[in-house]
Amino acid sequence: MSDSESQVRLFPQASKTPFRSRIPEHLVQAWHPSFDEEAEPLVSVYLTSEAFTQFMDHSRSDLENEVGGGLVGSRHVDTRTEEQFVLIEAVIPARFTRHGNAFLTFTQDTLVAMNDELNERFPKRQLVGWYHTHPRMGIFLSHYDLWLHNHFFPEPWQVALVIEPHAGLGGFFIRQKDGDIDHLRYFGFYEILTQGTSVVSWCNMHPEGEIPDGKGENDNE
Ligand SMILES: [Zn+2]
Repeated sequence: MSDSESQVRLFPQASKTPFRSRIPEHLVQAWHPSFDEEAEPLVSVYLTSEAFTQFMDHSRSDLENEVGGGLVGSRHVDTRTEEQFVLIEAVIPARFTRHGNAFLTFTQDTLVAMNDELNERFPKRQLVGWYHTHPRMGIFLSHYDLWLHNHFFPEPWQVALVIEPHAGLGGFFIRQKDGDIDHLRYFGFYEILTQGTSVVSWCNMHPEGEIPDGKGENDNE
């Protein structure tokens, strides 16, 4: 296949059928935002400690400009409950981006390079979404972010992760069952504790089973 032909097919993996497997239950830590997650996302997000470390290292590599990349993993349907989830195992930092201190643009070259790297390094995986940073901004999707998400990551189960590297914040934007996505409301996720301990450092998320920091409440059982 020539280069020009391979460039036409940006994300052939996106059409792969989901794995039928079981939602991980052991050594998993649920993380929730401090507001109520009223909406119901189409998919749950599971991620490994390695993936968290990788996108955080990339996020902190440039504290002035937005950086981003692809979330590498796989898509699953639970064999028992039919619930959908994505498993994020690694990241591919984006190259050939255009960015300023308030925006990040993926170009055609970005997507081609990302897809080539995916095929080379992770032939059995696919891009289950993308991530980018908002230095000194909040966790939301801008109009442009929404456009990019819907244009380049249109599968209903593809997710968008936004990270604020200064304060240490993060959140996943996930489409709901009707296809809608709320650009202000992010979701939590499940961390797979590969080393047995958590590496999550976001202060806008609290672990399930513990009181959120700073609330001063005492509703221990
Ligand atoms: Zn953004």
